[in-house]
Amino acid sequence: MTGKQLLVGMVGLASAVAAAVAPPAMADGGASRRGAPAPVRVVGGGSSAPSENGTVPAGTAAPSSSPAADPAPPGIDPALPGAAPALPAGKVFLGGPPATFSYSVTGSPPAGARVELYRAADGQAVRSWPLTPGGQVQWNGHLGTRDAPNGRYGFRLIGAGAVARAAIAGGTGTEFDLLDHLFPIRGKHDLGQSATNGFGGGRGHQGQDMFASCGTPVVAARGGTVTKATFDSRSGNYVVITDDTGQSNVYMHMRKRPLVAQGDRVVTGQQVGEVGETGRATGCHLHFELWTAPGWYQGGRAVNPLPQLRRWDRLTGHF
Ligand SMILES: [Zn+2]
Repeated sequence: MTGKQLLVGMVGLASAVAAAVAPPAMADGGASRRGAPAPVRVVGGGSSAPSENGTVPAGTAAPSSSPAADPAPPGIDPALPGAAPALPAGKVFLGGPPATFSYSVTGSPPAGARVELYRAADGQAVRSWPLTPGGQVQWNGHLGTRDAPNGRYGFRLIGAGAVARAAIAGGTGTEFDLLDHLFPIRGKHDLGQSATNGFGGGRGHQGQDMFASCGTPVVAARGGTVTKATFDSRSGNYVVITDDTGQSNVYMHMRKRPLVAQGDRVVTGQQVGEVGETGRATGCHLHFELWTAPGWYQGGRAVNPLPQLRRWDRLTGHF
């Protein structure tokens, strides 16, 4: 008989954003303009934003140069809690729900018993926690005050005696992949093939236009604080989220009023809206911007997001 029995619970990739709203149908409508040249005219989304006071009521032209402000669509849902299709299995995102390792111990853990977080590449322990009766470890992806590098990590029990049971949500053992961002369109999409869909585009275009059917969920590529959530005649319904490093992500032309409000804290993967074509936009698409710290119209500057979007798409954007 062993004096101690240790039950290893699971590494829960805690789904605080578990699906509470069924994703809309992903019918591939005519809006996806694969490879088509310059189908969209989107003029400098966001460039007028600093002067925009955020109080423009639905259907009222914002004080911008737009001659034809689209009214806000009717039938806006009441403020739903942000929800989105479940995060990809076996992955944990900076700014998202933490990796959670649960265990239960019968008897007193021996001295030195601990939970270690290790780097899968070399097995090096990067953090540890003492075992506590009925304990749980949560890790938000930080090491000290910094974000841990992307990569595969795992939890292991050291000096804890017999492990009676081990399991993990998602069925990937006790390891998971830590990623800095999630691709923000949660459905079939096109990154935008023509130069005019990209950054610059000869018209001061500050982001990347990516195509998907209207209604496809748009989620926070990285959690943080909502620094803007409103409508204006050029950007349509849009949201700005500034993460804890000061970078901002911007989501424009969404179909309905944002599902989040200025000041809200959101987690990576939380739904903020749906792909739409509000504002000065032709065709269902998401205009996405990436701003350096200290953020969108807070001293940061817009940079070409396409290299990052390609990376996030490759890692988390398959549908
Ligand atoms: Zn655009």
